Amino acid sequence: MTNIVLFGPPGAGKGTQADILKEKYSLVHISTGDVFRYNIKNKTELGDLAKSYMDKGHLVPDNVTINMLKAEVEKNPEANGFIFDGFPRTAAQAEALAFFMGEINSQIDAMVALEVADEVLVCRLLERGKVSGRPDDANENVIRERIAEYYRKTDILKDFYQKKDKYYGVNGVGTIGEITERLSEVIDGLL
Ligand code: AMP
Repeated sequence: MTNIVLFGPPGAGKGTQADILKEKYSLVHISTGDVFRYNIKNKTELGDLAKSYMDKGHLVPDNVTINMLKAEVEKNPEANGFIFDGFPRTAAQAEALAFFMGEINSQIDAMVALEVADEVLVCRLLERGKVSGRPDDANENVIRERIAEYYRKTDILKDFYQKKDKYYGVNGVGTIGEITERLSEVIDGLL
């Protein structure tokens, strides 16, 4: 089983690349943002709760997010491996993920991070907002708050995985194909 955390700030291209990589390596793609948006669309209790945080550009509380992630992993007992996109985003989530993967006799093999400068992120998200229909992409203040939240709570996870020799940084600027190639080089080295 090969399990990868695809990492990077909002707008780094995680979703786009995860969609390609899941096909290429036959991995199950779990995006916590997508699961929240699905719940919002279906007006579930979880969706209502998540929306109140997402609309402000803040993270949804750890306990809610961790339980949801576990449930998503458990839905796929036959998986060849997972590509986690948008999770973990806090130290508590990273600890929970390590514990949980251990319980199913597995582990995170690598955190592969897409590195992109902040001003490029803002431009990309504003562009995406014109077509994505995502309210959190439509407002520059919310975009900047999401990036600030990333530096407050998520960026430290580099250290967490670096200490385990599992951190791989990749230049996230270029064509989609070029970036896929850079990510594939890292993943091929794990197999
Ligand atoms: P994303 O689709 O990854 O950009 O996530 C959109 C929003 O969903 C984030 O701004 C958070 O409000 C929420 N979210 C997604 N993943 C997580 C997570 N792992 N922990 C907390 N909140 C999350």
